[in-house]
Amino acid sequence: MNPTCVYCGLEITPETDSDEHMISEAVGGRRTVRGFLHGPCNNETGRIWDAELGEQLRSLALLFSVKRQRGQTPRMPITTTAGEAFLLGPGGGLEMARPEIRHARTATGETFQVAAGSVAMARQVLEGKKRKHPGIDVEATLASAEIRHTYAQGAVHLDLGFGGEMSGRSLVKSALALAHEAGIPTEKCGDALNYLRGANGEPCFGFYYVDDLIAARPAGVPFHCVAVEATPASGLILGYVEFFGLHRAVVCLGRRYTGKAARRVYALDPRSGTELKLSVRLNFDETAVAAIYNCERDETAGREAAFASVFEPVLQAQREKERDRAIREAIRYAWDNCGAVPDTLLTVADFDVMRRLFADRMAPWLQHATGCTEESAHRQAIAFFVQVQRNLLSRHARPSGKPFSDESIGPT
Ligand SMILES: [Zn+2]
Repeated sequence: MNPTCVYCGLEITPETDSDEHMISEAVGGRRTVRGFLHGPCNNETGRIWDAELGEQLRSLALLFSVKRQRGQTPRMPITTTAGEAFLLGPGGGLEMARPEIRHARTATGETFQVAAGSVAMARQVLEGKKRKHPGIDVEATLASAEIRHTYAQGAVHLDLGFGGEMSGRSLVKSALALAHEAGIPTEKCGDALNYLRGANGEPCFGFYYVDDLIAARPAGVPFHCVAVEATPASGLILGYVEFFGLHRAVVCLGRRYTGKAARRVYALDPRSGTELKLSVRLNFDETAVAAIYNCERDETAGREAAFASVFEPVLQAQREKERDRAIREAIRYAWDNCGAVPDTLLTVADFDVMRRLFADRMAPWLQHATGCTEESAHRQAIAFFVQVQRNLLSRHARPSGKPFSDESIGPT
């Protein structure tokens, strides 16, 4: 007997079958099921349901640098509280929304000055200019380009809201796809089919934050998780869907189930695509399901705790990475411009110049990271350099063209 399509209800033949991603590809999902949707129904549900889900989760996909099977998460236009326009990029980095191009005519020809938000954007601009000015050497220009990091003046507010009819259907479809893979007949999942097939079907899920349904949750991992459990004793086919460790929903796929007991979990870290082994508790009865639908298991404190548990470690790691980058860049800048002669000992005067150059480059990051004044940031940068300097002197007293390596950076 051929399976039936969960969207239109008609028979699926080998010719009309399609691969359906259990978790939307846009947020890093990989595993697929067959015998679940017709090709055109797959396209239709992807275009309407999964697209809305992908859009709602796009800022998270960018923040966590989701690794997609195909393509990359498109950068997202955002405006800071100070009115600056940026593009949110992978890792939560902000790039100039538009390149700035300055054109001048000189006695010998023309010059273009290009400021772009990324090397890729700069290359695009240069290649565009090259069409009209074939003399432009794109690679040489890029190689000699100065890379500068600046910081947004205003704060960035991301809308992390999730929910609604279309993304709700995408979420339920994920649980139903896993049930199908686990051998639970989709035609027994009446609540889910009713919701997915009818324009006015009752949503068969509710957000759940009163406690953690995942046993021994891996800390600080923004994983996706789908779980299903069919229990003949209660007759319930239950599901659980979680995106980025933040959006957590319990689904009731069907009732009056009399088949074999079945359970399955699919979880992955979308930053790498690595699957995780998780155990999900889904022992709810019909009364509990009614309470979940009624938003009685959704609470603000639980939501905030979920957000903090995933965001804090990631933000902390990002801050450290950004700090290390700022230090490395400032030290290199100071070394390159202090005027020291390679293969000779650094003099006290060299160190004085380096300290000043280092502080010039380091202060903007400190000011951005701590919110202190420019003057205070400069003082902190100098104090930091003095600490590092002692470290450098003790370890690198011998003459060398390159007086220190990256790992010698940082107070000890
Ligand atoms: Zn169909």
